[in-house]
Amino acid sequence: MKLNVVEGIKSIKTYVPGKPVGELEREYGISESVKLASNENPCGPSPLAVKAVQDELSRMNRYPDGSACELTGRLAGKFNVKPENIVIGNGSDDLISLLAHAFLPPGSEALMPFPSFLMYEISVMSAGALPVKVPLNGFSIDLSTLADHITDKTAMVFLTNPNNPTGSWFSIEEFNEFIKKLPDHVLVIADEAYIEFAGDTKIFNSLARPLSDKRVISLRTFSKAYGLAGLRIGYGVMAPEIADILHRIRQPFNVNALAQTAAAAALEDEGHLEKSLEIIHKGVDFLQKELTAMGLETYPTQANFFLVDVKTDAAQVFKALLEQGVIVRAMGSYGFNTCLRVNAGLETENLRFIAALKKVLA
Ligand SMILES: *Cc1c(COP(=O)(O)O)cnc(C)c1O
Repeated sequence: MKLNVVEGIKSIKTYVPGKPVGELEREYGISESVKLASNENPCGPSPLAVKAVQDELSRMNRYPDGSACELTGRLAGKFNVKPENIVIGNGSDDLISLLAHAFLPPGSEALMPFPSFLMYEISVMSAGALPVKVPLNGFSIDLSTLADHITDKTAMVFLTNPNNPTGSWFSIEEFNEFIKKLPDHVLVIADEAYIEFAGDTKIFNSLARPLSDKRVISLRTFSKAYGLAGLRIGYGVMAPEIADILHRIRQPFNVNALAQTAAAAALEDEGHLEKSLEIIHKGVDFLQKELTAMGLETYPTQANFFLVDVKTDAAQVFKALLEQGVIVRAMGSYGFNTCLRVNAGLETENLRFIAALKKVLA
């Protein structure tokens, strides 16, 4: 029998996530490994979120609240918008996919910086549309180059701020210039998965501007600063007309009950967020200083991770680090053959990484 696969899907390359720690440890015969590869919060989830999940567990025979009413209300309050402006997703990956399926007619184009988040391309192709990858200018997203690539076919532009995997960022002025050149029919997805880490006050923060421009959709996640990556929950803030379309096509129970209750609790625990940010900022500073002292080049970041140029084949360094029980990300598939992406861990984890890297590069 011949499988009739929907146009475009066969050219999608399967996303290869970092291996789970347990599997790597078995494969390499190591233990107590350190994972600085997926930009997670090393401080763990908020204890309030853990407690909320424990309290919710005995109700898991029930379907979750399909409209995530409580969390939606809290987010609306936090950002001073209406509940109608918010859509919760099974991770922001879910929202990226919903947006692509709802707003990319077959044959239309979606612009995205490259390298950037791999899920954009996968979602765009699975919607039957065409990803147009616009190279970074060095390590940063160049909004004026992106604007130059807009055509009549462009239906959507993905912007990642700060960008993954480079940690680079763009300012509110750059964004405003970009918006001026944007045709009326183009949607802008501002993916701000790492915005909580950003310290530069000039950085473009889509939720700090008035929500009057319907073309701008903000995506946020509980996976990074809020430490809930394993539960899968993210959200989008957008015009009610856009939200209404996403609600029509999303799964009615796309966000599970544990994730909803954990996210609502995590949002209230500002102390845990602040403490996490402090530890992570210290971690980034420490790592960058140590690496610079080793004669390596690190790149500026507003996120909880950064690129370091190890000045030799990073894939080999990555493997040698694995054997030392330290997991980071090699950037060859992103076109940076001599770079590793490392996120800040706890102090002990950062020390382990530096010691292992010194050994590997010696
Ligand atoms: C991690 C990340 C996300 C978040 O994905 P979730 O599905 O919410 O876990 C979104 N965008 C970028 C750029 C990321 O790095």
